[in-house]
Amino acid sequence: MSAVRQTQGAAFRQAQDKEVRVDSFRQAQDEAFRQTQGGSAAESLAVSEAEATSADTREALEARVLERIDPEAIAQLASDLIRAESENPGGTEEATAQRLGVSFRVMGAQVDVDYVEPGRPNLVVRMGPNNGEGGILFLGHSDVVPAGEGWSGDPFIPRREGDDIIGRGATDMKGGIASVVAAMHAVNAEAPEIPMTFVCTVDEEVDARGARHYIQTVSPANYAGCVVAEPTSLVTITAARGATNLRVDIEGASAHAGKPEEGASAIYAAADVIALIEADHKAIHDTAHPVLGSGDWNVGMIEGGHGTSIVPDRCTLSIDRRTLPDEHPEAILEQLLDAARTRTAEKDRPGADRIHFTGEVEMTMPGFLTDPESDFVCCVRDAVREVGGNGDAGVWSAACEGGFMAQHHKTPTIVLGPGDITGQAHQPDERVSVTELHTAARAFALIALRIGAVAGGPTQG
Ligand SMILES: [Zn+2]
Repeated sequence: MSAVRQTQGAAFRQAQDKEVRVDSFRQAQDEAFRQTQGGSAAESLAVSEAEATSADTREALEARVLERIDPEAIAQLASDLIRAESENPGGTEEATAQRLGVSFRVMGAQVDVDYVEPGRPNLVVRMGPNNGEGGILFLGHSDVVPAGEGWSGDPFIPRREGDDIIGRGATDMKGGIASVVAAMHAVNAEAPEIPMTFVCTVDEEVDARGARHYIQTVSPANYAGCVVAEPTSLVTITAARGATNLRVDIEGASAHAGKPEEGASAIYAAADVIALIEADHKAIHDTAHPVLGSGDWNVGMIEGGHGTSIVPDRCTLSIDRRTLPDEHPEAILEQLLDAARTRTAEKDRPGADRIHFTGEVEMTMPGFLTDPESDFVCCVRDAVREVGGNGDAGVWSAACEGGFMAQHHKTPTIVLGPGDITGQAHQPDERVSVTELHTAARAFALIALRIGAVAGGPTQG
C-alpha cells in the first residue's frame, strides 16, 4: 500500500487509476448480476443484448432499492433507538436490541439474540442465502455513553430541530444503525438473493465485552467486507489503531518510614515502570508507521501505599497503550515487566530483591489496516460519491470494534457512517442530520448490493 501518510479528508488515489479499477469492478458486478438472472428467457437472448440489458437492469435495480429508502422512516427508527436508552456503564442494552430485533423480524431476517450477560444481548442478523456469507458485514453497537450534564432537554426524549435529531446516541451510533437497517430492508425487498449480515454488539463504549464474546462464540465466516457504521461524516476510514488497557501490580515490603532500608518501596519501583514507559513512548514515536503513525502510551491512574509514614508495599498502574495492527498486547506487557525487573535489579536501592512485578491485559481492541486501493474500498467510495457524499478516505487514530472483525473473519474492514465523531459523539445535545442518515443508508444499500452480487453471486459458485 501507499507509503504516503494520509489524514482524514485526503484522497488516496489518482483519478485515472480509479477509472480503470472501477470499470473492471463494474464488469464483474454486471457479470455476476447477469448470472443471477440467467436460466430461462435471458439465455435465449444474444450475448450483446444480454449484456446491455443486464447493465440497464442492474441500474434499474439500484434505482428501485434507493427509491425505497425513506428518510422519515430512518429518523423514526433512530428516535425509537434513542428512546431505548442503553447507557453504559449500566448494562441496559436489551431494549435497544429488542427494538432492532422487531425491525429485522418484520423483514423475515434470521435474528440471533445472544446474551453476553443478563440484560445485554448481542444481535446477529443474517439475510439472503448462505447465512449471509459472501456478502457485506455491517457492524454497530447498541450502547451509548452516559448522558452527563449540559443538555437543553431530556437526552432520551429525541427531538427534531430543523434537519437534526437530538438525543444521546443520535450520532454514536443509533443514527448509523438506523441507516443500516433501512439499507438492508430496501436491498432485501428488491434483491432477496443478496447475502447480508449485521452484528450489533453490547458494551463497545467500555470493555468491548460484546465483541469479545462474539469472536469467542461465532465461527469465522467468509464476508466480502465489513462496514463499521460509526460516525465518520461519511469519510471512508481504511485504518485504525488498536487500544489496550494494561494493569501493572507491584509488590514490595512495608516498613516504618524512619527505617526505610527495612522495607521495599513499591512506589519507587512504580517510578521505574513509568520512566520506562516514557522512554518507550518517545522511541515508538521515532519509528512511526507510514499510514497509522505511532502507538501511544498513557499512565492513566496510579494507586498505592497506606500512609505517609509507611514504606509502601503495593502500587498499581493503569495504563492505556494505543497499538498498531501488528502489535500484541501480551507481548507489550511482558516486555514492560521484564524491563522493569531488570531496571529495578540494577538500582542500588534497599529491598530491590523483594520487589515483584505482575500484570494483566485488561482490555484489548485490535487495530486494522485495509488496502485503500482495494476493490472493496473503491466500491465503498464510489457508492458514497454516487449518493452525494464526497467519497474522501482517511485513517483514524481512535480505536473501534472493526479490528475484531478484520482479525476474526480476515475480512477487509472500513469505518463509514453518518455523524461527526469529534463535534457530536459523546457531547451534550448530541445530534445528527436526517439528510446525512439518508445519504448513509443509500450508500450502505449500494455497497451491499454490489459487494453481494460480486462476492456472493454465482461467479464464485
Ligand atoms: Zn460508537
